[in-house]
Amino acid sequence: MKVPKVDARQLEETDADRRRGMLDDHALTVDLVSALAGDRQLTDAENERLGQLKKERGHRFFSDLLYSITHQYFPPLIAEKLWTAVLVHKKELSTVLGRNVRTVVATLDYLSNITSNMSSATLVGERVIEEIVGLSLRDGLTGLFNHTYFFQQIDLEVRRSLRYGAHVCLALIDIDDFKAVNDSYGHQEGDRILAAMGRTLLHVARDSDICCRYGGEEFAAILPLTDRQEAGAIAERMRTAMAESLSGGETVTVSVGVAACGKKTQRYQDLVEKADAALYQAKRNGKNCVVMGAADG
Ligand code: GH3
Ligand code: MG
Ligand code: MG
Repeated sequence: MKVPKVDARQLEETDADRRRGMLDDHALTVDLVSALAGDRQLTDAENERLGQLKKERGHRFFSDLLYSITHQYFPPLIAEKLWTAVLVHKKELSTVLGRNVRTVVATLDYLSNITSNMSSATLVGERVIEEIVGLSLRDGLTGLFNHTYFFQQIDLEVRRSLRYGAHVCLALIDIDDFKAVNDSYGHQEGDRILAAMGRTLLHVARDSDICCRYGGEEFAAILPLTDRQEAGAIAERMRTAMAESLSGGETVTVSVGVAACGKKTQRYQDLVEKADAALYQAKRNGKNCVVMGAADG
């Protein structure tokens, strides 16, 4: 079977979103994919789950299968052909060697040696990959999600809200006069305040909220399935709770800008811009307060 070689650069823009989703995909583990290919017996529950996944994902199912093994993205139709070819290759290898050649080995051999779709393949355990991905999405000082993850998620959430007509809001939180805190108390004390505020933000936020360190002394909370009014109340709770005492007894406060998706706010860039403008207004209003961006339907 002739399988085309994939131009990775071409995929870079078009399929970036899909790949991001796959990073979060815990449904198709290597173990399950191997079992599907015959390395071990599938349980009834697994069979049912796989049937469901195939139905839900259509052709994308095959991209996801290959991704779980290779951590490389292949477009759905190519992935389906590759997967069929991998199964044939696995059978042939097993016959030649007189033992079952495991799916991971057959896949990597097929993609790197037969079709040259993979170069410099490295074997890394799934748990290690999860750990690395986890670390690469977190900010070291506060443990919150980082700027990169923030932009991935806000994009996803805004598009999800458009598709399903659900609410989504964004709160941008900036520490007030933080430069003066550093100047008077030193950077270390500044770092302590930042870490403490990060913990409080996590504590106040709900499980579904996505709390990130947006920049130096700025945080962002993405609030899925939350309307503007509810977001205002949450932001107010965050503002009050995040106030931190300094060793000298003074209090460090935060200002918050909140924006909601609406008729004129349908791209994540618009939502960020609107929350940023509201935050700027909160600073102009004297800081330590919440300002809501205008509602636009
Ligand atoms: P405003 O109320 O207008 O936000 O004033 P500000 O002083 O907070 O804002 P400005 O942008 O002037 O200064 C931000 C300060 O935050 C300066 C920078 O040194 C400090 N900062 C940024 N990241 C860190 C960090 O990781 N640790 C510490 N200790 N300070 C940081
Ligand atoms: Mg700032
Ligand atoms: Mg500040």
